[in-house]
Amino acid sequence: MTQRDDALFAILDRELERQNTTLQLIASENFASRAVMEATGSVLTNKYAEGYPGKRYYGGNQIIDEVEDLARDRVTALFGADHANVQPHAGANANLAVCLALLKPGDKLMGMRLDQGGHLSHGQPVNISGQLYEGIAYGVTESDERLDYDQIRDLAKKERPKMVIAGATAYSHVIDPEIFRSICDETGALFLFDAAHIAGLIAGGAHPNPVPFADVVTFTTHKTLRGPRGGCILSTAEHAAAIDKAVFPGLQGGPLEHVIAAKAVAFHEAAQPEFRDYAHQVVTNARALAAALAGEGFRLVSGGTDNHMMLVDLRPFDADLTGKVAQETLDRAGITLNKNQIPNDPRSPFVTSGLRIGTPSMTTAGMREPEMEAIAALIGRALRHREDQAELDGVRRDVNLLCSKFTPYPG
Ligand SMILES: *Cc1c(COP(=O)(O)O)cnc(C)c1O
Repeated sequence: MTQRDDALFAILDRELERQNTTLQLIASENFASRAVMEATGSVLTNKYAEGYPGKRYYGGNQIIDEVEDLARDRVTALFGADHANVQPHAGANANLAVCLALLKPGDKLMGMRLDQGGHLSHGQPVNISGQLYEGIAYGVTESDERLDYDQIRDLAKKERPKMVIAGATAYSHVIDPEIFRSICDETGALFLFDAAHIAGLIAGGAHPNPVPFADVVTFTTHKTLRGPRGGCILSTAEHAAAIDKAVFPGLQGGPLEHVIAAKAVAFHEAAQPEFRDYAHQVVTNARALAAALAGEGFRLVSGGTDNHMMLVDLRPFDADLTGKVAQETLDRAGITLNKNQIPNDPRSPFVTSGLRIGTPSMTTAGMREPEMEAIAALIGRALRHREDQAELDGVRRDVNLLCSKFTPYPG
């Protein structure tokens, strides 16, 4: 065939080096297995397969149908769902497809406040979900910075939304699907549980499964579930046809069957006993990291974590330190994470007073509680000496040394 594209592959080599040698603490990221990446890079990228298994628009899809059926069978077994649609290109597409399937323009959609941990696709004005539908938002309490189900119930009774969404992108506690079900039953709302972040924790038995309680469950396959970048929708049999129609032809064109193959691999991996250990270790590591960060003088929003991530309030550590400066400083020291608004943050989303830190990636790399303590110490040291380049270089060397013992992609 043609010559290797040296320009592009030289860049890829540098990204591989970055992932292997620096700390990846972004809560929505993970290290996919080689099998997942092999499927993503397979010849299935060549095939058009508009439609669903058995009902395709083009020929030549007999083998593709087996791939998509395998993915659907595995994911419905994994979560105990009636129906699965594995075609959404991403989590946001999955949520929009559910809205297209179940709502009419102008209907009320109730989700968590963006600045308190919710997601853009849950009815935010800057997102299509807040433009086609009327977004209503619930938040966390001022006192303990957690969801208050009585407040959510009162708001749902007052607003009577057509659909209530549970699920968050920056919330560190269990979200109870059973209570949300009762709120939806009392108010006549449909119930969507967006498990984008925690699908892997659910699959691994570390968090309650929303499938028995929700009408629809959406999730991404690339966060704690550790698969390829993509989305998935699970639903009751009642909503299956409407959801399939909304994904295709409603919202998307041809499905990414190479990615669907990789999703099938990830669903298989997540059904193994080792994945249960992984999911529980992710939470154990998050608790260890949170405790060690508290020891460094940071404040943990809501007092800590029950899942894979934590929100850190930087102000008690240093009143002048913003999330933006902390993220940039840590990037220079080889520690990758993101700035994040904390509840009632006086600073803007571009500056912030907080950080969001997650353990899914480094747990995949094999780290456990002692490494979490080491990471907290490195974060504290880098931020304490953020004006001192020599000290930041020293942190970076220690980060490289730590990562050399926990390399996600050796060889
Ligand atoms: C990440 C996330 C999404 C969106 O996933 P993308 O694949 O980035 O589109 C949706 N909902 C929640 C709660 C998320 O955390």
